[in-house]
Amino acid sequence: MINLLESGSNSINNSKKTVSSKKCTLDSDCPDVLSRPRFSLRTHMLLMFILLSSLSMALVIGSVIAINHIQKKLHFFQITEKYLFDIAQARRWEKNYFLYGTNLKDAVQSANNAKNILSDNLKNVTIILSPEKTATIVQHLDKYREFLQELSVLEKNGIENTEKKHEIETSLRKHGSEMVKVAAALVLKEQISMNTMLKLIQRIPVYSLAVVLLLTTFLVCFFVKRLIKPLKLLVESTQKIAKGDFSPIPPMCKYRGEFTTVELAINHMIQELQLREVAMVESHKLRAIGTLTAGIAHELNNPLNNIMLTAHAILEEHNDLSEDELLEMINDLINEADRSRKIIRNLLDFAREGESASGPLDLGVLVNETIKLAQNQIKVSGTKIETQIQTHLPQIRGDKQQLKQVFLNLILNALDAVKKDGTIKISLEQAETPGFLSVKVEDNGCGIPAYILPNIFDPFFTTKGPGKGTGLGLSVSHGIVNIHGGQISIESKEGKYSRFTVILPSLNVPADLKAKSERRN
Ligand code: ADP
Repeated sequence: MINLLESGSNSINNSKKTVSSKKCTLDSDCPDVLSRPRFSLRTHMLLMFILLSSLSMALVIGSVIAINHIQKKLHFFQITEKYLFDIAQARRWEKNYFLYGTNLKDAVQSANNAKNILSDNLKNVTIILSPEKTATIVQHLDKYREFLQELSVLEKNGIENTEKKHEIETSLRKHGSEMVKVAAALVLKEQISMNTMLKLIQRIPVYSLAVVLLLTTFLVCFFVKRLIKPLKLLVESTQKIAKGDFSPIPPMCKYRGEFTTVELAINHMIQELQLREVAMVESHKLRAIGTLTAGIAHELNNPLNNIMLTAHAILEEHNDLSEDELLEMINDLINEADRSRKIIRNLLDFAREGESASGPLDLGVLVNETIKLAQNQIKVSGTKIETQIQTHLPQIRGDKQQLKQVFLNLILNALDAVKKDGTIKISLEQAETPGFLSVKVEDNGCGIPAYILPNIFDPFFTTKGPGKGTGLGLSVSHGIVNIHGGQISIESKEGKYSRFTVILPSLNVPADLKAKSERRN
């Protein structure tokens, strides 16, 4: 059995309710839409562009700064190497002097070169080595140069004071070795610093890649939320509309943007569809009335004939008739006229447009009245009707007109499905679900192929030819049963039978059971 409450649609009453409850066609009609902060997709794109551009710019600026820094480091490293070279050279010349008595001038020259380099780059050296260490280097270099000068003066004056020379040699060695030590330390420190810097620069592409990946993931997630989610909602909403659920689609985004326009357009379309559905349902009812009218015309023929015959008999034979006979014939006239009136009233009752009025109903009486309404049609088609209406069942609460329309739809469909001499069985009994009554309309007609079963409650679904079916009978019936807290279901076998079961809550159904059933819908 298919639970049609999932695949069915809302009735005209539902539609009417929704149309009046939410009008949302223009911005001005929807203050809630207007109050949403504006944040369009274009703004999103712009922000994303600004973010990515800023990131790229930051990366480029960072790389340029790092390369400049490395260049400066390299330059300074070359200076420190030159300084170390001059110091080492001065020491070599100094050793030559003490060994062979040559190159004293060269030693002085190299020491002076080292001094010039140190003076030019004192600031940088102070930053790298601390002010105390820099002061020590300067001190050692100055002392070294002083002793070399002293040695030069002694040499120039031709003084052969070996003791003094020895003293100077010792001092030169002391300051010289200190100078070389500190200069080597300076070069080493610069080398380490450069290596660290290079390693850092090597890591920049890796870090940039990680940042770009993270940002891309974030943006993808963000866009999935901002684009895919509303699109999914849109698809779900259109599927709901296709099934006849005309409730306005909920807001797809927190912000006002392009999707708000789509949302408003769809809600406007839903309203238009509802209005058209109202018109189509009316036309379906008119078609049913048309069908009934053919049967009624046939049925009216008999009483009208009888009236004519009796009236003519009175006209021609009134002088020969006794008073009793005359009274009897007039009574016949009244009875036949009353029969005709009842037939017409039945149809008028059904055709009457009226506000829905819900009240306690005897479902047995209602089913019998509906059969009577279609009786003439049944007679014309030659179909056999078997009824099994249980009595003493609890009443139900509902709208008589609407429920009549449901059962009439089922009976007319069954009449369409059966061939001549077919049988339609209509029964009323307690449903299996406690507190519910069940009406079954079963025919031994053409049945419904399994592949169209899930669609028969969809609005506008029909297998009948043009001008014969509107495809709204079952959809409207489903909606009506729904709002009465009931369910409608179908069992069918192609070529064998179709059985529609309508269950409706009786008046004394416990409130929680009724609510459960309504929730299931
Ligand atoms: P319509 O009768 O205007 O086509 P309905 O919504 O009443 O619209 O029915 C939809 C379709 O369900 C029908 O076109 C028909 O194919 C199928 N159907 C309904 N009742 C029966 C039935 N008793 N036997 C066979 N098919 C049926």
